[in-house]
Amino acid sequence: MPVICAEGIVTRYANYRESDRILSIFTIQYGRLDAKARGCRKPQSPLVNACQPFVFGQFEIFTGKEKATVNACDVRETFYPIREDYERFSIGSVILRLCHDAAPENEPNEALFSLLYHTLSFLSYGQSNPQDLFCCFLIRYLNTIGYRPSITACAQCGRDIRGDAIVRFSARGGAVCNACVQHGEPVSKTALEGMRRMLMMEDAEMDRVKLSDEVRAEILRALTAYTESSLEFGAKALNMLQSMQTPAQHANTPAKHDE
Ligand SMILES: [Zn+2]
Repeated sequence: MPVICAEGIVTRYANYRESDRILSIFTIQYGRLDAKARGCRKPQSPLVNACQPFVFGQFEIFTGKEKATVNACDVRETFYPIREDYERFSIGSVILRLCHDAAPENEPNEALFSLLYHTLSFLSYGQSNPQDLFCCFLIRYLNTIGYRPSITACAQCGRDIRGDAIVRFSARGGAVCNACVQHGEPVSKTALEGMRRMLMMEDAEMDRVKLSDEVRAEILRALTAYTESSLEFGAKALNMLQSMQTPAQHANTPAKHDE
């Protein structure tokens, strides 16, 4: 019987029938897989802890003629602290969504998996500001999926702009020189250098990023506009972040994530 074993992170689920779920699992070995998990919402089900977003585990999946089915899961990490804090939960949900939408089906993407795994680990157990981690995730994510914005050269004329007095950040392409684009707020050298350094580091170093309030706001503004205009699913995923600005209204962290 065609049974596969794969390590992966649950990126999404949809409930159906009384106690079943369809899971999307971003696996290391096979990319994104969708699989049914029968009875997993029953409290006594052995799958009850495995069939939740953020869970990382080793899944045993039966791939028959019809939809794949989860037989068993050995849970390795639930990233539980993400659920205990509204800001971390919001950011974590956006990160899951972005990775879900970019992960190829039935085709591995180890670099994207590694980025997701490290970001969720730091979001759960790291000391860094979750928004700094998100800035770092976002620029590295864009790079990993082939949408790296221009940082040191003008996106339009290609000239090196590191010595320029005025540089702007265009939602289409990234950094642009003053001769090519004259409208919009300039972006600071510190923000551009910050993004360049975040691209250079290893996934395991992502918690070293520490941004000032001004620079963090600049980078977030630049990268969210860029992501929304570059990726067809970008705006929808980042919409979930808007509620992050007013955490006081959401004191009760939603435990569910139905879509
Ligand atoms: Zn230019």
